Amino acid sequence: MSQKYVYLFSEGNANMRELLGGKGANLAEMTNIGLPVPQGFTITTEACTQYYEDGREINEEIQSQINEYIVKMEEITGKKFGDKENPLLVSVRSGARASMPGMMDTILNLGLNEDVVNVLAEKSNNPRWAWDCYRRFIQMYSDVVMEVGKKYFEELIDKMKAKKGVKLDVELDANDLKELANQFKAEYKSKIGTDFPSDPKEQLMGAVKAVFRSWDNPRANVYRRDNDIPYSWGTAVNVQAMAFGNMGDDCGTGVAFTRDPATGDKGLFGEFLTNAQGEDVVAGVRTPMKITEMANKFPEAFEEFKKVCATLESHYRDMQDMEFTVEHGKLYMLQTRNGKRTAQAALKIACDLVDEGMRTEEEAVLMIDPRNLDTLLHPQFDAKALKEAQVAGKGLGASPGAACGKVVFTAEDAEIQGIGGKGEKVVLVRLETSPEDITGMKASQGILTVRGGMTSHAAVVARGMGTCCVSGCGDIVMDEANKQFTLAGKTYHEGDYISIDGTTGNIYDGIIPTVDATIAGEFGRVMGWADKYRTLKVRTNADTPKDAKKAHELGAEGIGLCRTEHMFFDADRIAAFREMICADTLEEREAALNKILPYQQSDFEALYEALEGDSVTIRYLDPPLHEFVPTEEADIEKLAEAQGKSVEYIKNLISALHEVNPMMGHRGCRLAVTYPEIAKMQTKAVIRAAINVSKKHPDWKVIPEIMIPLICDVKELKFVKDIVVATADEEIKNAGIELNYQVGTMIEIPRAALTADEIAKNADFFCFGTNDLTQMTYGFSRDDAGKFLGAYYDTKIFENDPFAKLDQTGVGKLMEMAIKLGKPVNSNLHVGICGEHGGDPTSVEFCHNIGLDYVSCSPFRVPIARLAAAQAAIKNPRA
Ligand code: PEP
Ligand code: MG
Repeated sequence: MSQKYVYLFSEGNANMRELLGGKGANLAEMTNIGLPVPQGFTITTEACTQYYEDGREINEEIQSQINEYIVKMEEITGKKFGDKENPLLVSVRSGARASMPGMMDTILNLGLNEDVVNVLAEKSNNPRWAWDCYRRFIQMYSDVVMEVGKKYFEELIDKMKAKKGVKLDVELDANDLKELANQFKAEYKSKIGTDFPSDPKEQLMGAVKAVFRSWDNPRANVYRRDNDIPYSWGTAVNVQAMAFGNMGDDCGTGVAFTRDPATGDKGLFGEFLTNAQGEDVVAGVRTPMKITEMANKFPEAFEEFKKVCATLESHYRDMQDMEFTVEHGKLYMLQTRNGKRTAQAALKIACDLVDEGMRTEEEAVLMIDPRNLDTLLHPQFDAKALKEAQVAGKGLGASPGAACGKVVFTAEDAEIQGIGGKGEKVVLVRLETSPEDITGMKASQGILTVRGGMTSHAAVVARGMGTCCVSGCGDIVMDEANKQFTLAGKTYHEGDYISIDGTTGNIYDGIIPTVDATIAGEFGRVMGWADKYRTLKVRTNADTPKDAKKAHELGAEGIGLCRTEHMFFDADRIAAFREMICADTLEEREAALNKILPYQQSDFEALYEALEGDSVTIRYLDPPLHEFVPTEEADIEKLAEAQGKSVEYIKNLISALHEVNPMMGHRGCRLAVTYPEIAKMQTKAVIRAAINVSKKHPDWKVIPEIMIPLICDVKELKFVKDIVVATADEEIKNAGIELNYQVGTMIEIPRAALTADEIAKNADFFCFGTNDLTQMTYGFSRDDAGKFLGAYYDTKIFENDPFAKLDQTGVGKLMEMAIKLGKPVNSNLHVGICGEHGGDPTSVEFCHNIGLDYVSCSPFRVPIARLAAAQAAIKNPRA
């Protein structure tokens, strides 16, 4: 039998989401449990992947199955495509395995043509409705299928409203809408060159193709990369009989959540509009009503809806996000899914579900997306400054957090000026946002929109990204064309500062300083569960006592990487460091090192103190020299003066230090091989600091871990280690104290991984430096890869940045090999990771699976790593 590409809703169930997509599987499940779902069918994700395999064509087999299922659907509904008596109209929606809000497109009222619209107008006795459906269909189809663009149609609607002297779409009558439909078709013909298709089957194939194609649009690709969704999954397509929310005032449509997606509070939360269809609620064109007002508008449907909500929530044992339509007072369910939520809400819902007996602790831990936790750790406004601040306006608190920055008016300007561009703090202010704005939204500290409710594009997308957002501030008088807006009597131009609060929806003039978040309550409870179930330890990468303290508060169980060269960025320290780099003789270098030693020692003491006796790994100097030599004339003069040399001489010295490829140059352990006195000084600092702290806190067991970077040959390690051991032992002997210390190495050069059995005999621990290991395994400069990775995403050679998400196939294989080679020759060897990947959830899972002892990541990612480690352990318990 040939492969089955199409399923009726009645043939599927919730477990089939890989094949039917999330939406399709849930429509099937709702059908199975007897909820009022307009019937239809789902074209599988496999049909989508086949479409791409066939060179972006829907092959004959799939087409014939679709046609066969149209007939089945006609039998079920008693309506027929293109029929003059009883025409079938359908919606066509995408539905991937994981929901991708705003990424894919929807077409409603498919099946309409000039004949059918006349039949509907007459039979329904409601010509306004019939023409409203038709003009919407032409608009959506043109936009989605033929990519004509929404703008032209919206301009035509605005012209019509102006001509009729009305403000809202609902105020246009049947004749206006008919005229609009004709104008739309003319617009279509002028843009595409052919008549708007009238055959429903042709319309349907076009729509299905458009959904498949939209899987590969740039917005979808960006969203997938951000959310770890593989390209290979494909999307399903759902074809469903229409229920009409725009047939009059006893009709409507809405979206609702069974708990508040911003706070997690129990209770129905949502919005609806009467006499409206599909996208009207989220498009922000009209301001929707609160869901509770449904009790007055459609009392019976509301009673049923409440029951449906309760059924769905207990069925899925999670907060549901639903779409529904009411047609002449009767309720129809169009979608349900586990609702997207803020991090705060995710924690509260997980805890409540455990308390309500619906979920176990392990299940609750698995319900929370670790990446979401980021938002909880984001800054809030300084409370004192906030008290004194004047509220300039108020919108909806759509995505929590506080943001302060310069106003920009376009996504492009946000990209140029914001994160990833000039690096300034910007707040993107728009009438409303659309999926095209996603990169600009990511580059902004916060987003402020004039239109749209809590379920608008800006709100949904910002919440998903963890970016602060205030939506729907109707008091703003926006002038996008001239890049200005007016609020509370003040006109803001590009570059003016505003501050917004994504929790309260408040908007403030000027700068309000922000402070780091404090974490308590449900966060602590969930983290407690995470710690109970994880086996992987979580350390932090911290170079300053301040960062170390923060990380310790966030649950770090030690420092996995202290980059000692980073301790010299301060103006008063860099001078001594430069003197060391630019020393000519041993004496000069030792003189510079003697200046550095006290800084190092006191920093190390502060780090041990911050970690209260937990392990601290100190990585010996690894400065790519180009980052440290002076480039400014004044700095060069200062150095010349300190060294008692001429400026000319220093300049020559600097040019002699120049390397063509500094990332593979005179850095890492090579520095200690050339200048052993550097390793000696660092050892003295590490050991003296440990001795002092041990004396102060006899109950702490301070065991310094000394880590040698960039080893490629065991002989290098032995050479440096000999210096370390001789120096450390002498310091300990002189102090007359007992102190254990360890000497380990980073594994960050492929050759080190390949010869890990030799290296392990001489190392107490391995720590994978996956930044360099990725750089050297791929042969991509970690500083320059950004320039061409974009082309790699476009051509699908890569789906992710291997510097952010660990390449398990290649780099991961080297890691596994190093562990397999190393452990048998040294049973005490402990192994960790301290590259950037140590805070990435999927990479953490991989580290758990290959048997690492710890991951180490930047302070704010510690909770993410703790949760990801717990999820990995629950999914794949260690023996
Ligand atoms: C690494 O290479 O992964 C690492 C942690 O070291 P650095 O980033 O300092 O080179
Ligand atoms: Mg490195």
